[in-house]
Amino acid sequence: MIYAKLNRKDFASFFESLRKYGKIYGPVKISESYGFKEVSNVDELSLDYPRTMIPPKKFFIKPQERIFEFNEEKAEYLEIIEEERVVVFGVHPCDINAIKLLDKVYINDMPDKYYQKRRENTIIIGISCHPDEYCFCKSVGTSYAVDGFDLFLHEISDGYLIRAATEKGYELIAINKDSIKDVEASDIDEFKEREQKRLTEFKLDLNPFGLQDMLELAHDHAVWKEYADKCFGCGTCNLVCPTCRCYDVTDLMKLDLKTGERARRWDSCMLRKHGLVAGGLNFRPTRVERLRNRFNCKGSLREGMINCVGCGRCTVYCPASIRYVEVLQKVRGEIK
Ligand code: SF4
Ligand code: SF4
Repeated sequence: MIYAKLNRKDFASFFESLRKYGKIYGPVKISESYGFKEVSNVDELSLDYPRTMIPPKKFFIKPQERIFEFNEEKAEYLEIIEEERVVVFGVHPCDINAIKLLDKVYINDMPDKYYQKRRENTIIIGISCHPDEYCFCKSVGTSYAVDGFDLFLHEISDGYLIRAATEKGYELIAINKDSIKDVEASDIDEFKEREQKRLTEFKLDLNPFGLQDMLELAHDHAVWKEYADKCFGCGTCNLVCPTCRCYDVTDLMKLDLKTGERARRWDSCMLRKHGLVAGGLNFRPTRVERLRNRFNCKGSLREGMINCVGCGRCTVYCPASIRYVEVLQKVRGEIK
């Protein structure tokens, strides 16, 4: 790790320097919410945002994309791999940890070339944040990004203490050598104080220890029926979740019935058709089963880390006001 300091007065020129790499996306206020949008000017950024509605997974797993074109007659196919280079600016630690989890699934387990190429062509710049009443990343160990970013900017009073974690991050520091300075002792003291204070700001707590066991033991618990009766089955909780990564694959034939394209798009385990397989069997036909499945998936440790990074999105955007932590507190028997 390399540490450096960016003074506030140099922030705009540093931001502009990122354009040499590719398009810059950052958090922007959209109506009552926030989203990662392409930004042409530093003034468009809302760096004190609580969370975006759609997480940065959208840069690596597109909500909808064509993955290859095929010609059945000639038995040929042509992959559609994007080469665009982008900078995703202002990513919170929970979302960086979610991308690390996606990397395990999409790169480490069985490389997905579409995902992998986008990861290679993306610079991730993290930014420090403050929790609101929906955040519980501290509970699940994702409130600090140890790695998974190129640069991380920790706000201090007159600018940012920067951590650089990769070659791309070191290069960004090198090309900004006139504006990026050495860290001073007072900067380190302030960084430590701010990190310490931030830990005291969390209002929501979830005990993640043994959660996977608690969930398995709660298979017949009344909690699933209680919340399934409230749930609309809309799938929003999956779409806004930074670790949900199920997708559906469709072959679209052209009218010549020889050529076509294969497309994939985000899917949701909360939708009825998610469990529908050939022959008409649905292995999760009821909302109770789908809700229980989602919570079991989020509490699973099968990727070596819990599948929930505590971002709070599924609670904030649930139209039925189902509170994620409350459900798990009932599962644990902490509340009735
Ligand atoms: S967002 Fe809420 S209402 Fe919609 S499927 Fe998820 S839990 Fe159900
Ligand atoms: S389950 Fe909810 S709180 Fe956890 S990562 Fe997904 S959206 Fe965020």
